[in-house]
Amino acid sequence: MSQHFDYIALGAGSGGIASINRAAMHGKKCALIEAKALGGTCVNVGCVPKKVMWYAGQIADAVHYSKDYGFDLTAGKLNWEKLVESRQAYISRIHQSYDNGLAKNNVTVINGFGKFIDKNTIEVNGETYTADNILIATGGRPSVPNIPGAEYGITSDGFFALNEQPKRVAVVGAGYIAVEIAGVLNALGSETTLLVRKHKPLRDFDDMMSDTLVEIMAAEGPTLKTHCTPKEVIKNSDNSLTLELENGEAITVDAIIWAIGREPATDNINIKATGIELNARGFIDTDKYQNTSVENIYAVGDNTGRAQLTPVAVAAGRRLSERLFNGKTDEHLDYNLIPTVVFSHPTIGTIGLTEQQAIASFGDEDITVYTSQFTSMYTAVTQHRQPCRMKLICQGKNEKIVGMHCIGLGSDEMLQGFAVAVKMGATKADFDNTIAIHPTAAEEFVTMR
Ligand code: NDP
Repeated sequence: MSQHFDYIALGAGSGGIASINRAAMHGKKCALIEAKALGGTCVNVGCVPKKVMWYAGQIADAVHYSKDYGFDLTAGKLNWEKLVESRQAYISRIHQSYDNGLAKNNVTVINGFGKFIDKNTIEVNGETYTADNILIATGGRPSVPNIPGAEYGITSDGFFALNEQPKRVAVVGAGYIAVEIAGVLNALGSETTLLVRKHKPLRDFDDMMSDTLVEIMAAEGPTLKTHCTPKEVIKNSDNSLTLELENGEAITVDAIIWAIGREPATDNINIKATGIELNARGFIDTDKYQNTSVENIYAVGDNTGRAQLTPVAVAAGRRLSERLFNGKTDEHLDYNLIPTVVFSHPTIGTIGLTEQQAIASFGDEDITVYTSQFTSMYTAVTQHRQPCRMKLICQGKNEKIVGMHCIGLGSDEMLQGFAVAVKMGATKADFDNTIAIHPTAAEEFVTMR
């Protein structure tokens, strides 16, 4: 006999957990289905372990800078195993806190891979579960190029499974993940090459941000190679890998990391049985309320193909439960003006339109752009001076801020508060009326001329 629930979430990643907990807090009988560890990509093979590795890179950088601050430090060999052990212990504590939260809310956690039988029924390990409402929050997984020998490379999942630090690494890709992993490995001392198929990484970001990152990479690494399209991977007798490129070049390394994008995990859940048609790229189309094309089935997170970011999945999932189970009939997530940070070395924080996009949307004459560039004080007293660059993009006579971008130390923590102001419709005059906090990098945003 099948067990019946008010609400089932398929997938215990950021979106599924957030939505199911919120529904349960409103007194609904809820179940969460997950085949792997609680927390999905973000907690297990994404944001969380990435940020730990990024912090390790920051420590390596600090040792590097310390000499000019008068310290006599020599960085010993990185104990990769210890770093991984600390990171995984931290992740285990997060699992425990998720377990506790779900138990407190009386959410039934079902371990196993769920497949639809019909639009109200999911089968897990031979048992069936039915629900009045079902959320599909199955997330995504890294893509691998379709070339001979691609299986010798690893993805971000494999990066987080590495027990040893690779000496020589090729990271292939040009988005967040490629830039972040290449930055971490370079900072931790691996000989790292970032291979992009076009002229630079982060092409969709404001040019000032991506161009500055390229400039910093030239000074500090990783080695950036442009116009490189992978052709084939050959495994050598000493276990090293040779990546052959379309342009005739080749690079031999100990590990190849594919970071060429992510695809939705929607192909193995027998979604056909629900009547939902996937779009051409395999994503589930949803309206602004996270409704799919089938009544009482919803989707949030990476499998919808919209803004693949943990806080977006969390916010969309919680709002959905408020709408369904707390009478807030118009509750939905506004996907405009989502702030985001790339944990590159240094970080890039951004919200709103790039200059290129603002010009395309409003025309050159309607846009005013303010910029600031300086050497971050932290590095300015050392021999390794690193630039910090900022841009404000304003629109119309009252100079409403439609884009805000920053690359440099501290930009990751800086943008969140400014995002509140931008979301509220702040103008340049509002920024100018705000007293600077000195000495910080952030103060540049309220003193630009
Ligand atoms: P992205 O889609 O952001 O970037 C992948 C890039 O790789 C493409 O844009 C493309 O750039 C390049 N590429 C695509 N196919 C190939 C190919 N066959 N060979 C070589 N290069 C290729 O994917 P990511 O995997 O980096 O990240 C997925 C999503 O996860 C991000 O969009 C982001 O939303 C999220 N994320 C967010 C993070 C954060 O908030 N800090 C961290 C990590 C991920 P081009 O066309 O220029 O070649």
